[in-house]
Amino acid sequence: MKKLVTDLKVEGKTVLVRVDFNVPHKGSTITDDNRIHAAIPTIAELLKKNAKVVLLSHLGKVDWKKLKKGEKTQADIDAQMKKNDLSIVLPALKGYLDKALGKDVKVSFSKATHGDELKAAVAALKPGDVLVMQNTRYEAGEEKNDPALAKEWASLADAFVMDAFGSAHRAHASTYGIPSVLKEEGKETAVGFLMEKEIKGLGRCVEPKEDERPYVAILGGSKVSTKIEVIDSLLKKCDKILIGGGMTYTFKKALYGIDVANSLCEPDQFDYARKCFASGKIVLSVDTVLAKGLDFDNLDKKAEDIKLLDGNVDFPAGYEGADIGPKTRELYASIIASAKTIFWNGPMGIFENPDLQEGTKAVCKACAEATERGAFTVIGGGDSAAAAKQFGYTDKFSHVSTGGGASLELIQYDGHLPGIDVIEDK
Ligand code: ADP
Ligand code: MG
Repeated sequence: MKKLVTDLKVEGKTVLVRVDFNVPHKGSTITDDNRIHAAIPTIAELLKKNAKVVLLSHLGKVDWKKLKKGEKTQADIDAQMKKNDLSIVLPALKGYLDKALGKDVKVSFSKATHGDELKAAVAALKPGDVLVMQNTRYEAGEEKNDPALAKEWASLADAFVMDAFGSAHRAHASTYGIPSVLKEEGKETAVGFLMEKEIKGLGRCVEPKEDERPYVAILGGSKVSTKIEVIDSLLKKCDKILIGGGMTYTFKKALYGIDVANSLCEPDQFDYARKCFASGKIVLSVDTVLAKGLDFDNLDKKAEDIKLLDGNVDFPAGYEGADIGPKTRELYASIIASAKTIFWNGPMGIFENPDLQEGTKAVCKACAEATERGAFTVIGGGDSAAAAKQFGYTDKFSHVSTGGGASLELIQYDGHLPGIDVIEDK
């Protein structure tokens, strides 16, 4: 068991909290502030204990590596930094904190991410105050886990709380470097409430016991190659894997030799796909919704044509596989209906388009019914979670993970992630 934020003695002390405020945003408008909301219980707990709280998070990308390789210019980096200014989270954060504590919480912002200015901002905090530091990725050393940077950040704190599940699979300075330094110095480290919830929820998908089986995974989304290792490890853990989304056509071409026309297809994965299928655990679609002339820059725009294709036969030229058909929806729903543990990652079709949502909706509905009758149902994946939200099913799952890559890796590595392992046990 990891030490939890409630185990810390932090009255009057400075606590660094790594949160995940990597919110989707257009300019300074946040389009979904769920990640801010999800971090509130941990911050509120520390404030109630009269700690001084310093929040660290990344937002978006800053391509320091590409700058070094000459693939990006300093002007590109400056533009990325401007685009990913973390101060946009302040209004929502303060609103939620005031509500949670029932009083006016002092929330300030440090533009500096190192040096005397940051040190002074931390020193100015009083118990019960919050300081948000600018985007950790403004520092080139963050993603490299630069020891000097980790040491400098750690020097600001008496204790560290990890609550950024979405970043827990990365050993960066703010997720891994700081707690490593603090532990060496004999200072306390703990996980927050969000991390605890994720570890428990996703933990149930690592190795379900006999009475929690059948364990069914549903895998969709865009590419086989990015999820390849996951299929391998899921095959060892699951009783069945239902395949949907773009990886379907790599399997179909590899197994049946059919022409998949314009569908996503990765020939270099054919051998791997055959090997996976030989496990006898993989279930593929039996009918396909085909689309022609999709506008990939405006996915919600009507396709030129939509067609249903039965069986494993050649796709007509100019079309691509874009969703699972009605027979497959029924087949998958019937398998989901008999499962006791269900892990879902990746939409079944191009759900951004109103004509290609039925497969993903059917999976949501079947999982919702499964939850209702007592199965444990989990979504891990940004787009799958967004789809479930869009179709009104978020509350019908046992656990919706806030981390995409992190949730897959947690299952793949049997509950171990750098940002979890680095935190001390109770
Ligand atoms: P998640 O974020 O849940 O892990 P992914 O990022 O892997 O999921 O995949 C989501 C994307 O997959 C969506 O944008 C969706 O449009 C796309 N997708 C699903 N099915 C197909 C398909 N048949 N062809 C192309 N793209 C697909
Ligand atoms: Mg995604």
